[in-house]
Amino acid sequence: MSDRVASITESATLAVDARAKALIRAGRPVITFGSGEPDFPTPSHVVEAAAAACADPRYHRYSASGGLPELREALAAKTLRDSGYDVDASRIVVTNGAKQAVHQAFAALLNPGDEVLVPAPYWPTYPEAIRLAGAIPVPVFADESTGYRVTVEQLQRARTKNTAMLVFSSPANPTGAVYDRAAIRAIGDWVAEHELWVISDEIYEHMVYGDAEFHSLPVVTPAVRDRCVVVNGVAKSYAMPGWRVGWAIAPPDVSGAMTTLQSHATSNVCNIAQAAASAAVSGGLGAVSVMRAAFDRRRRTIVRMLNEIDGVDCPRPDGAFYVFASVKDLLGRRVRGRRVGTSAELAELLLDEAEVAVVPGEAFGTPGYLRLSYALHDDDLVEGVDRIRRLLADVEE
Ligand code: PMP
Repeated sequence: MSDRVASITESATLAVDARAKALIRAGRPVITFGSGEPDFPTPSHVVEAAAAACADPRYHRYSASGGLPELREALAAKTLRDSGYDVDASRIVVTNGAKQAVHQAFAALLNPGDEVLVPAPYWPTYPEAIRLAGAIPVPVFADESTGYRVTVEQLQRARTKNTAMLVFSSPANPTGAVYDRAAIRAIGDWVAEHELWVISDEIYEHMVYGDAEFHSLPVVTPAVRDRCVVVNGVAKSYAMPGWRVGWAIAPPDVSGAMTTLQSHATSNVCNIAQAAASAAVSGGLGAVSVMRAAFDRRRRTIVRMLNEIDGVDCPRPDGAFYVFASVKDLLGRRVRGRRVGTSAELAELLLDEAEVAVVPGEAFGTPGYLRLSYALHDDDLVEGVDRIRRLLADVEE
């Protein structure tokens, strides 16, 4: 196997999900908090647009690698509508999910030895995709005491002469952390001052609750625009994770390089999925506001219930659909005769003894925590957290 591929590890979140789904298939009543996808179906007008595209021979052919022209125009209009970022459609590259946009941005911009600052806890794909591009991920840790938000001071301490890029995401996975406008401005100014590149992953733009607001980094700090790649996709906002449509918005030379790379890697994204994405982003935001209301309700419930469990400390996140709870106080103790040394062992115990799937903090570069997605039915959520509570009532000193 190549050194490059041997150096990366499988996605722990997908692995947890696969194990939980296998147990469910085997008839076990597993409740899974592992999933990173909305539990809602794709809106019907989107499905209908895909069905119409299926029947239209125009969509049966290869199409432009960078994306269907009508989708790129729709994405430019959607971006202006949702974040106030005014971009020409020619800067947009349509990809197989935001994940491929992330990969291609790293591949297009990084050289061996380049360091990329990655606020931790991080989405597991960032460091692996950075390594695959031959560069070096440098985690910058922020814990619950700052709401899992990194500061400019922390970034500055981690910067070296090899630092080439920052990965920024707000709202963030796995913590649900949302940066306010002033914090984004401070980070953007710092990026511009040091002439770094920045990836702004905006996939959770519509998943913000209460008084929290989403702000797009290149809108708050226009000075980064010539060195910024915005990444986004339809997976979360339009309940379309399986359709595999994402995009990047980048300066012309970078979007050109990403398109060339894509032309040799995957050609075009499935035309049917692109037609569906076009209908999704051109339609209103009604479906996402229905989901947001449900997520907000579940967020409040799960935070309250988890904090009622001894040894669990769960800050209330402002965005995405995850909570990130500290379980550090439980480590080193015994539950039903089993010693729980790490959050990974606790996650295993929860699956074995309570039939509840969660993702351990290890997956996100921060042992001592558990991530729970609340994109599941309200009744399952309550039953699942109650199972955790019942199991952890058996903690021995
Ligand atoms: N960025 C973040 C922060 C994510 O959480 C995810 C999905 N888990 C993605 C990107 C990838 O999304 P997609 O399904 O569009 O590839």
